[in-house]
Amino acid sequence: MRVRLRNPDREVDVPGPRTVADLLDHLDVLPHTVLVIDDGELVTGGHELADDAQVEVRPVMSGGAENTLRCVVCRAPAAIEEPRHRAAWCLAHYPDHVVGQVRKAIDHPPSTAHNERMFSYADRLLIAVSGGKDSLALWDVLLQLGYRVDGLYVGLGIGGYSARSQEITEAFADARGARLHVVDLAEEFGYTTPSGSQAAGRSTCGVCGLSKRYTFNRTAVEHGYDVLVTGHNLDDEAATLLGNVVRWQDDFLARQHPVLPAGGGNQVRKVKPLYRLSERETAAYCLVRGIEYVVEECPLVDGNTGHELKSALDVLEAASPGVKAQFLFGFLDRHAEKFASDEDDDIRVGACTSCGMPTTGEVCAFCRQRDAIMKVLPVTQATA
Ligand code: SF4
Ligand SMILES: [Zn+2]
Ligand SMILES: [Zn+2]
Repeated sequence: MRVRLRNPDREVDVPGPRTVADLLDHLDVLPHTVLVIDDGELVTGGHELADDAQVEVRPVMSGGAENTLRCVVCRAPAAIEEPRHRAAWCLAHYPDHVVGQVRKAIDHPPSTAHNERMFSYADRLLIAVSGGKDSLALWDVLLQLGYRVDGLYVGLGIGGYSARSQEITEAFADARGARLHVVDLAEEFGYTTPSGSQAAGRSTCGVCGLSKRYTFNRTAVEHGYDVLVTGHNLDDEAATLLGNVVRWQDDFLARQHPVLPAGGGNQVRKVKPLYRLSERETAAYCLVRGIEYVVEECPLVDGNTGHELKSALDVLEAASPGVKAQFLFGFLDRHAEKFASDEDDDIRVGACTSCGMPTTGEVCAFCRQRDAIMKVLPVTQATA
């Protein structure tokens, strides 16, 4: 059989027939880190692959896998199992599971005052979309649920990776008649993620992250959106929590929550409705719903320490399915409040004297970073 593997993208021939579990064992791939697709269909560990099968082993992080092979809704053979939920679903019923988890996150965010919802049908939502599985899956779910939600794509200028991401995001929006804002860092601010990082002498992910957060908030403010939505999932949030705990960053722990209320001035409310779903679940949702997304990773990802934390949690999850969710939900439900400090209320947020966006100082971190970059880079088409 011909097997396509990703990251790096390659194909290998493996003698068959053999089961999916055998194949993964042969390839030395941990079952819970991948989805296996045989001729376009998701298949589980016991499925037999023919000698002439065309198989894709698609990486996702997290999850866990055992063979619970019947759909919990209709008892038909299951296409995907989630040991964390002690459940499995057929292709027809799997999307309902994902939509249900998003619904629960929106309607019952953990330990919010008066059980307030993340947002209502009256709100205008702006979702930050990267072309990856999480943000496109979430946009799809929110559109299905009938929310007023537009997209925002930020062009980071990371070569072919950015070009493909933008193309896929635009095709997604076009197919649904959804509105998509595109903000290109080079056109808007005069630098790309790689050139800005080189000029500022800072890590690419540092420059990239600050530029994205700033652009998300500023675009939401400029276009009058009520809520900014991001596709952070259970794996992202658990890894962030672990990073904050191992370094005991109390101030970050105080702000780790799927709902961050609007701050004074121009700070838009931020929410993370995917925090109950793993990367594996959102990847499977995209496959089942036929959503094309960018499978390749950002080529600059090596600078991102979050990956080591995710890998560490994956080891624990493989040994004990569900532990990742227990770690995150336990913190949010029972311990997050202990880190909330009154000091936050005392920090005065004002307007940046350069751009008017929120800052606790005089000039915001983004404007300071951009100034540092522009001192070194030749100004191209900067308009900001
Ligand atoms: S991996 Fe780093 S550089 Fe690449 S998109 Fe993410 S934050 Fe930006
Ligand atoms: Zn079913
Ligand atoms: Zn500023």
